[in-house]
Amino acid sequence: MSYLELRGVSKVYGEGPTEVHALTGVDLSADAGQLVAVMGASGSGKSTLLTIAGSLEEPTSGEVLVGGALLSKMSRNDKARMRRRSIGYVFQDYNLLAGLSAVENVSLPLELDGVAAKKAQSAGMAVLEELGLADRATSFPDELSGGERQRVSIARAVVGERHLLLADEPSGALDSANGEAVMRLVLAACRRGVAAVVVTHEAQLASWADRVVFLRDGRVVDQTEPLSGIEESLLAHGPKQ
Ligand code: ADP
Ligand code: MG
Repeated sequence: MSYLELRGVSKVYGEGPTEVHALTGVDLSADAGQLVAVMGASGSGKSTLLTIAGSLEEPTSGEVLVGGALLSKMSRNDKARMRRRSIGYVFQDYNLLAGLSAVENVSLPLELDGVAAKKAQSAGMAVLEELGLADRATSFPDELSGGERQRVSIARAVVGERHLLLADEPSGALDSANGEAVMRLVLAACRRGVAAVVVTHEAQLASWADRVVFLRDGRVVDQTEPLSGIEESLLAHGPKQ
């Protein structure tokens, strides 16, 4: 079953001569347990696609379904609850709160969702342990390396019973060893049944995905499924003109 489904999604920013067609007629789905990589030049609409999939922005036209529910039929409160409970979002710049320790950052979504502080912290601790970060739990973000911060932000995105992981160039600021570690964590989440959509620039990391979606000027130009010949696709489409 597809946990995430975008049907004919378009997004237009602005109006008249300055309008930007960020996405045009995008169809995309991610099944439970599936890792979908999104590639495309800068400005091709990758971040717009993730924010719409995560219900942070509304499409101009088309429909988005999360867990079989149409976002357009959900109230603001329902969407907010769904974001807290079911969707994990990983930002390129980590977005950790500087005043909270690693474990406090990770358990925050649960606390916001009404889970008692103690229970939330032990769930946060369990995820940090899984990600090999138990000894960094009480460290603050500025005491962590870039790779550790990104792992903490992934821990925060998968804590609790998340079903959908959306990651916008999670390895963008990392060296290749840390980038691989991050992809390994995403894959581990998928093995637990999470549907994941990950934006990446690196064909090497995209090659770990079950499917690679290429965006060009807001349109899907290719879907490689299952992964075969990613190089060919890149060569065939070339860089953005
Ligand atoms: P990518 O993540 O692939 O670099 P984006 O989704 O950020 O691409 O942007 C796609 C296009 O939409 C770009 O032309 C960008 O300038 C434009 N865009 C994105 N967000 C906004 C916004 N909030 N207002 C106006 N234009 C935007
Ligand atoms: Mg982007």
